[in-house]
Amino acid sequence: MPELPEVELLGRGLSRYISDSTITAVEVITPKVTRSDLKRVIGGRVLGVRRFGKMLCIDLSNAFSLAIHLKMTGRLIYRGKKQPAHLKVDEDLTTLPGKHTHVVFTFRGGDKLYFNDIRRFGWVQAVKTSEVNRLPFVAKLGPEPGKTLNAQQFEAILRKIGRPVKLLLMDQERISGVGNIYANESLFCAKIRPDRKARQLASSEAKVLFECTLRVFEEGMKYGGSSTNAYRDVLGRKGQYQEHYMVYDREGKRCLREGCSGTIKKTMMGGRGTYFCTTCQR
Ligand SMILES: [Zn+2]
Repeated sequence: MPELPEVELLGRGLSRYISDSTITAVEVITPKVTRSDLKRVIGGRVLGVRRFGKMLCIDLSNAFSLAIHLKMTGRLIYRGKKQPAHLKVDEDLTTLPGKHTHVVFTFRGGDKLYFNDIRRFGWVQAVKTSEVNRLPFVAKLGPEPGKTLNAQQFEAILRKIGRPVKLLLMDQERISGVGNIYANESLFCAKIRPDRKARQLASSEAKVLFECTLRVFEEGMKYGGSSTNAYRDVLGRKGQYQEHYMVYDREGKRCLREGCSGTIKKTMMGGRGTYFCTTCQR
């Protein structure tokens, strides 16, 4: 599932390629992925793109917005005059629309934005801009580290929760934006075992974990996001963060922390692959 860095990068890409463009047509190929009548956005010019946790919101000049959640495997791919000449993308993205394209937005001048989703858990909704904050997803969303959550508030949340710290990090209604990959990497960075009870972390550990969360977000962004799963950028290109994981997907391998000779172990927590070093994470 794309996490905060990937969705942030996608939002920036959308800003770059479709800002000021006017939607002239919407083709819904798979109604299941839509949550309202998308025709309402026709005639709207793109004013900007906002992100709420892992949801994107494209605001339009006609008082409507497009709320889009990629969930597990959703993608938004731009094709048009502004795209670079030689794009290196997977075969299934060389010709669009493809078999996983569910919605096609056409802009004045002919540019297109494709909503693709292999597993079809993602969704697209046209909503009045004034009502975006009342969408159930947005209303329930927890604060975001570094944006609406500081280190003190982060620690206060940990103090209230007896669950394992990794599950808390990934609970979008408590803390938004952190998914499985970044939770694993943050905990490794902070030298904290994923199964530690959140409320039992020392104050100093909570502070380090908060800083590590911001640091791995930055790392993810620096490398163009993680494409271990379905994520592709707005042009359909892969990110490279998966080449730089310290712990995720490294079961049985030697710990990469300098001075540690431990081995990475994999367990399952909340149904998700959980990786940690049994030596340096405590
Ligand atoms: Zn280690």
